[in-house]
Amino acid sequence: LAQLFRPLDLLGMVYRTLRQGAIDMRAMFDLIDTPSEVVDAPDAPALAVSGAAIRFDHVRFGYDDDRTILHGIDLDVPAGHTLAVVGSSGAGKSTLARLMFRFYDITGGRITIDGQDIAGVTQTSLHAAIGIVPQDTVLFNDTIGYNIAYGREGASQAEIEAAARGAAIHDFIASMPHGYETKVGERGLKLSGGEKQRVAIARTLLKNPPVLILDEATSALDSRTEADIQETLARVSARRTTIVIAHRLSTVVDADQIVVLEAGRVVERGTHTDLLRREGAYAAMWSRQANEQEEAVAAE
Ligand code: ADP
Ligand code: MG
Repeated sequence: LAQLFRPLDLLGMVYRTLRQGAIDMRAMFDLIDTPSEVVDAPDAPALAVSGAAIRFDHVRFGYDDDRTILHGIDLDVPAGHTLAVVGSSGAGKSTLARLMFRFYDITGGRITIDGQDIAGVTQTSLHAAIGIVPQDTVLFNDTIGYNIAYGREGASQAEIEAAARGAAIHDFIASMPHGYETKVGERGLKLSGGEKQRVAIARTLLKNPPVLILDEATSALDSRTEADIQETLARVSARRTTIVIAHRLSTVVDADQIVVLEAGRVVERGTHTDLLRREGAYAAMWSRQANEQEEAVAAE
């Protein structure tokens, strides 16, 4: 009889894991109240990931029929590469990330992962392939161990610790009297912005997705913490296809490709060196940020 129940347990676990992943993504994108209009195609197969190459072909999209937000976006992120998306607020950066998850259907063009149109595969398989490190991590009023394991239900203590080490937060956790059993949240330990982001990184390491989406924090972190986290993220994104909504200069400099988005159009693309040489929108943005960074460091 026990054997009869085990597959059901497993199914329940898989379902809960996928559902939690979806909730996390919706939280990241402030979509908690958004009804899901997207449905799987009948008999849609699961996404089969090999290297996780991402392409956007002439992607058009608007939240409402009367206002187009993305006007035909082309992106090509080869397997394992990092694409940085920069641009001013409202340009459509987060919209690109939402469309990767197929929170909305596009009105023109195609988004593919390893050649498969994401509109033609199951949403659960699509969501399972993508990990996020959001700008603001939601923590639960539970132990820090639970908060890390939230990346994958059923993870062993050894796996949780390995993920925490990868996110460079293990030593901090181990130094507390109750270790991984330490309660966090309103009634417990308050984590700093940087520590929360490390919890998110540890969750993502546990999930081990082939595609990574990072929405970098704009401020909140001091430059020392920022540099530490940057180093951790660089390790996490190695060998994964990464799209980063980039605010940090270091991410932008190291990306294989940078696109500058303005009002839903790609206005420049290239490497950091290419774009500086062009002396256009990117070069102006970069010198402005570099000045701000110098002032911030001087002020610390
Ligand atoms: P960014 O991340 O570059 O700051 P977004 O992708 O969040 O920009 O937004 C692009 C545009 O889409 C903005 O004009 C924004 O107001 C609009 N927008 C974002 N989310 C929604 C929504 N849920 N409904 C309608 N318009 C939206
Ligand atoms: Mg945004």
